[in-house]
Amino acid sequence: MIVYCNGEFMEKSKVVISPDDRGFLFADGVYEVIRAYQGRLFKRAEHFDRLAYGLKELRIGGVDLNSLAAIAARLLTDNGLAKADATVYLQITRGSAPRSHRFPPTGTPPTCYLEAKPFSPPTNVQQTGAAAITVPDQRWARCDIKTIALLANTLAHQQAHEAGAFEAIFARNGVLQEGSHSSILFVKDNVLISPPLTNHILAGITRSVVHSVAAAESISTATRSCHEDELPEFQEVLMVGTTVDIVPITVVNGRPIGGGAPGPIARKLQSALHKLTQPSPS
Ligand code: PLP
Repeated sequence: MIVYCNGEFMEKSKVVISPDDRGFLFADGVYEVIRAYQGRLFKRAEHFDRLAYGLKELRIGGVDLNSLAAIAARLLTDNGLAKADATVYLQITRGSAPRSHRFPPTGTPPTCYLEAKPFSPPTNVQQTGAAAITVPDQRWARCDIKTIALLANTLAHQQAHEAGAFEAIFARNGVLQEGSHSSILFVKDNVLISPPLTNHILAGITRSVVHSVAAAESISTATRSCHEDELPEFQEVLMVGTTVDIVPITVVNGRPIGGGAPGPIARKLQSALHKLTQPSPS
């Protein structure tokens, strides 16, 4: 696999990242995952805007954001993915410097790494629906930044996996926030409900695409907080994200949601999203 690291394209096995890298020492960095359909990056501008936001909030400078799209495109080509479905993973850290809580000296170059690899979405659970569990939200208070500090997310996801579930939904004082690697939406009274965008959740790009698609499909939408106690009242629960598309959540904590099967709003949104992402035949 050909990857990009700090100005060079090279075999992944040749990449050298210092043990002094701030990403390694402090999880001091941000990342993005972008889907590519037939070689075209989906919602590229939105992903780069979110990356720019994260870099600004963490005060990581010195990144030439304008060059990243071309690097991603070259990685797709160099890895034979120009006509394939793939993901591009992109990570930027504050660079490498002897371990100190203080920022490195001004001018320390950030570490910039990108790779592209083939990707297939989880079509099985998209069709059958999946189970989720709720877990207490133990993350920090800046979940609006897509940082590489994902320990609470991985612990939650592993807990879900060990419970035979597909996703963990974070609940902060009982308020449902988002999944370990996805946004979570709810349906009640035929209204698609999204939790408000606060510092406790990521502004998911798929979530915003699903919103637009819902409007086009004349599905009513609302933004409000939802509590764990409301789970029995939801007709549907949807998990949405770059690497899952839309997965209906049919069971939460062992209890069925709605009829315990994927609902009509999930089906409508899945088909509309599919139309949007599949390039029309030329
Ligand atoms: N929330 C979290 C915590 C995530 O990690 C992700 C995706 O990785 C999402 C939401 C969904 O965001 P997007 O739709 O931009 O992939």
